[in-house]
This record gives sequence, C-alpha cells and structure tokens, in this order.
Amino acid sequence: MGNTIQSVRGFSDLLPDQTPLWRHVEGILTGVLDRYGYREIRLPQLEKTELFARTIGEVTDIVEKEMYTFEDRNGDSLSLRPEGTAGCVRACMQHGLLHNQQPRLWYTGSMFRHERPQKGRLRQFHQIGAEVFGLSGPDIDAELIIMTARMLRELGLDHVELQLNTLGTAEGRRRYREALVGFLGGHRAALDDDSQRRLDTNPLRILDSKNPETQRLLDAAPVLSDFLDDESRKHFEGLKSLLDRAGVAYRVNPRLVRGLDYYGRTVFEWVTDRLGAQGTVCAGGRYDALVEQLGGRPTPAVGFALGLERIVALVEELGLAPQQRELDVYMVVAGDRAQEAALVLAERLRDALPGLRLQMHCGGGSFKSQFKRADRSGARFAVVLAEDELARGQVGLKDLRDGGEQHAVGREELPGLLATGLDE
Ligand code: ATP
Ligand code: MG
Repeated sequence: MGNTIQSVRGFSDLLPDQTPLWRHVEGILTGVLDRYGYREIRLPQLEKTELFARTIGEVTDIVEKEMYTFEDRNGDSLSLRPEGTAGCVRACMQHGLLHNQQPRLWYTGSMFRHERPQKGRLRQFHQIGAEVFGLSGPDIDAELIIMTARMLRELGLDHVELQLNTLGTAEGRRRYREALVGFLGGHRAALDDDSQRRLDTNPLRILDSKNPETQRLLDAAPVLSDFLDDESRKHFEGLKSLLDRAGVAYRVNPRLVRGLDYYGRTVFEWVTDRLGAQGTVCAGGRYDALVEQLGGRPTPAVGFALGLERIVALVEELGLAPQQRELDVYMVVAGDRAQEAALVLAERLRDALPGLRLQMHCGGGSFKSQFKRADRSGARFAVVLAEDELARGQVGLKDLRDGGEQHAVGREELPGLLATGLDE
C-alpha cells in the first residue's frame, strides 16, 4: 500500500458523491448561456506556448511562473492552457468567425496553473467562460454582467458582490504606470517582496496586493481614474447607467485590476466573503486590443470566466446543494432463469417509464445479501424476480422506504404500479 500511485499535487478527482452537484451547477450555468443566445465552442487544452506569451503577457505571473510548459517530441514548445480566452480568440481567427460576425460564445473545461494548492486554488481547475467579439459599446458589457448576475441568482447564491472598474486605454495606463512607479519608487522599502518585484515588471498588479501595509500606502498613491480618456469615461458611465436601470447592484473598486495584460476599459469581478482568501468566483472584462495583437483585424471583445470549484464550494457553503436523486428501483434476482427474465423485464420497464432509474443486481448471491444492497442503494422499490413466481407470471414488489411487505404482482401491472408509487 505504501507506494501506490497518487494523483499529481493540485490535480483532484471528482468522486461520484460530488459529480451530481457539479452537473447541477453546470446545467444551470450553461442553461442561462443557451437562453441568452451564446453558442458553445470546444477548444483544445494544449496550445503553442507563444499564444499565451503574446496574449496574457510575458511578465505576468501566469506566463512567468505558473504555466505547464514543455517541449513535445518534435521540439515545439507547448503549454497546457492556463485560461480560455487566448485559445478562443485563436480559434475564432483561424476559422474566420470574426469576419462580418459578432459571435457570442461560451466554453467550459480544465485550466492549468502551477500555483500553491489551497482551498479554492488548484493546479487543474475548471471554468465556464463566455466571449463576445465585434461589439464595442457598453450595452454588451452590461448584457454580459447582467447575465452573470442571473447565473449566480439561478444558483440561489447571495453573499456575492459585483465589483467594477475601468482600466481606460493603453496610453492612459502607460501614463498612470509612470505616475504610480514614481510614487511607489519613493516607498520601495515599505513594499513586500512581491510588490517590489512587480514595481519593475507589472506595477499595476500592486493595486491588487493583499498586504495591508501596501494597501495603506496606496491610499496616498495616484489613482487610475485620473488618467482616463473621455471615451473610456463615457463608456464606463454608459455601463453603470445600464446596470442601474437593470437593477444590478455593483461597487466601483478603483483598485480592481486583472492579472492578464490584455484587459482595457471594463473589468469586473464577483467576490464573496464566504470562501476565505479565494473569494473571486467570476472575473472578466474588455480586451479590445487582443485580436489585433495576434495579427487579426482590430476587433473589440469582452468576456468573463467563472471558477467552477469556487462556485461549487459556495453553493455547498450556503447549503444550496440539492438533494441527490436516488435510484427508483433495485432489481433482486434469484436463480439463473430469473436473471434472463430480469434483464428482459428491466428493458421493458425502461421503455415504459422514461427517466426510470433502475439498477439490476448482477453477480448472484443470496436474497439476504441482495436486499442489503438494495437498501444501501437508496432505491425506493425493490422488484424481486424468483423462479417460482415467474412461472406464475408474477414478480415481487417491495417499498424499501416504509419497511412494507413484499407483494406478488402481475408482470403486466408492474409499470403502472411503479409509476403511481414513484409519483407519491
Ligand atoms: P485569483 O486572483 O483568485 O488568482 P485570477 O485573477 O488569477 O484569480 P482569472 O484568471 O481571472 O483568475 O480566472 C477567472 C476565475 O477562475 C477566478 O475568478 C477564479 O474563480 C478561477 N480561478 C483562477 N485560478 C484558479 C485556481 N488556481 N484554482 C481554482 N480556481 C481558479
Ligand atoms: Mg491567479
């Protein structure tokens, strides 16, 4: 036992007890996306490393130290995707989906980042994301955000807050970066190691620092909103008034920035205080420069990604996990002849009662041991096939929940009796 193989650190298994909740969550979220007219796109988990270096940014944490990058057998540098946007843009360009179209897309799947595993932070994690291309106005930003609000609402989630900010244009951010570096450079010694390093590589990320001392220092720092151009300001005002009209509450957080270089103008996050430090359950924003950066025609774009592990954890934390639906019928079988008849009868029942959850006992064994399994299976009814009853055209039916007696019933009556019994 000592040396059995374990999973890779940060890569977790989802066991059968957990998958129903995941399917419940995924079903609600993808259902909303469908109903808003977003179409699913399925993308590879592996891309050329260059794709991420050119989109997310060379000096971001993700590309610098979190990617699973390796050379394949041909010597090409490949990376497991750390997020979905870059691959989605790549696919849209490759397949001409951006020509005279304004696709609204969604995707789901595993993402990979070599981070320190902890609650709500894994090395393989799952997102559901959406991206919209070709629309530049605040109306689509608003729709996306309103849609995420509905997604969370349909899951029953509260204790989530929408935070909003605008990053303006690249030019404004460049001027702001200078001002920020000018200010923080004078206080270098007061910054933590991470922030000192970021001062040289990605200073805007310092705004995001969790260090209270750094946050205090930032109270006196220049603010990004003073570096906004008129167009970005107008866009942001437009978005806020649309959200106001739609009744979606938000808080403007002037220090909200994202860890990926491609964002500009709108950024937003849904944050909860119920999951400790890993409180962001959904994050997104506008990335109008990205398509052009990858060699395409200038194409405005906006999107978001929900972190499924965190959404599922919040659903559980708030006690919103639905009761798992159990089996309807466990079929108990005595004797070889009965086994044949049982398989045939089970198919008849499945035909007659769509949606029926029936598990067939396999592998023989005594009545007693089979009934034990039937009880443990959580099934509502046991249907019992024994050779002597079969000869009379009958089967046994036993309600497992009320400890009732087993009745002999005609095979022909069984579908009707089950339908009525399961309806109660
Ligand atoms: P964080 O600040 O929590 O590291 P991020 O800004 O790196 O998040 P994004 O790249 O915007 O996250 O990804 C969108 C969402 O995916 C996050 O809000 C979060 O819910 C989820 N997510 C990101 N990284 C992880 C991870 N390592 N494990 C689990 N979920 C994650
Ligand atoms: Mg991160």
